[in-house]
Amino acid sequence: MNALAATNRNFRQAARILGLDSKIEKSLLIPFREIKVECTIPKDDGTLVSYVGFRVQHDNARGPMKGGIRYHPEVDPDEVNALAQLMTWKTAVADIPYGGAKGGIGCNPKDLSVSELERLTRVFTQKIHDLIGVNTDVPAPDMGTNAQTMAWILDEYSKFHGHSPAIVTGKPIDLGGSLGREAATGCGVVYATEALLAEYGKHVKDLTFAIQGFGNVGAWAGKLIHERGGKVVAVSDITGAVKNPNGLDIPALLSHKEKTGKLIDFAGADVMNSDELLTHECDVLIPCALGGVLNRENADNVKAKFIIEAANHPTDPDADEILSKKGVVILPDIYANAGGVTVSYFEWVQNIQGFMWDEEKVNRELKKYMTRAFHNLKGMCHSHNCNLRMGAFTLGVNRVARATQLRGWEA
Ligand code: GLU
Repeated sequence: MNALAATNRNFRQAARILGLDSKIEKSLLIPFREIKVECTIPKDDGTLVSYVGFRVQHDNARGPMKGGIRYHPEVDPDEVNALAQLMTWKTAVADIPYGGAKGGIGCNPKDLSVSELERLTRVFTQKIHDLIGVNTDVPAPDMGTNAQTMAWILDEYSKFHGHSPAIVTGKPIDLGGSLGREAATGCGVVYATEALLAEYGKHVKDLTFAIQGFGNVGAWAGKLIHERGGKVVAVSDITGAVKNPNGLDIPALLSHKEKTGKLIDFAGADVMNSDELLTHECDVLIPCALGGVLNRENADNVKAKFIIEAANHPTDPDADEILSKKGVVILPDIYANAGGVTVSYFEWVQNIQGFMWDEEKVNRELKKYMTRAFHNLKGMCHSHNCNLRMGAFTLGVNRVARATQLRGWEA
């Protein structure tokens, strides 16, 4: 089952639990707008290359649509649709005044030079600039994009519409980015983990963790877990995987990766097979990379008791079923990784107010939002006697359905 079919299935199940009117259910399923554009650029050697760019704007009942832009070879319309829909539920779960959107370009950013990436980003922005906006649709970084990508979008967009710092979030601090945004998704993952563990009387410092994906989210989550005394016993990324049953020295591993570009050959660890990371002995597994990594093939061998979905859609429905039968507790993506978009909201608010918050305030507010969302989600689990994924989906879908109903449909 692909990401869109799985997301639609979760949505439909939530709609059934909520007893949602079938007309609202249908209207929430269909995206507000799907954009597909040709992006042709000259490469550094003068030859032309064409890519396809997407922006799916899923829903705006609760506010401007919000979501990242992903540069990855596997970007396709179904995936972007699923991710846009997940953003609608995620912003509602976090209770920030946004709808959901997602974009992407089917390319491998590792094969492009910095100037090729800049040209591609500018062409994409030229094609979509009149369909995004500070009060319409606000992009942000996602896989394969970063603060620099947002700076190019901001610059290109401002050529058409005047200086508009709030058009993107996740910008460099010098251009109006928020302190704490870089760490926000990883930091939110850790706040979410702490909120969940507290329910079981457990603490990060007493547990072992395996982290799949060591980019922005995985690295920050690992660093913060290490700071809290948790043992990160295994870590993987596309270059390989390493393990140490006594806990990896995460700051040292991060500087090793920065120097060598790889995780392997790190003095304080043994190399392991990347595929084994997901089934490695640990208390808490944190997938921080692509979708669908937990599936029918490996779910039964998962040893972790808790899974924190830092990635979007890492657990496919087969795995969901197998894991819940095994008693594994899964903290769903639309809550667990909402820290990024929550601090994006703080960034947008700061841009609109023209007033910068200090990092301590950003993190304090982030913790408040993540903790409150967890209690709201648990409240739905209790009222509807459902698991955490359905608790999150019913929470998000209910908020969006209420906003949709209040706004009405009269033409
Ligand atoms: N790309 C991130 C996500 O999937 C952040 C989106 C945003 O900040 O708008 O949640």
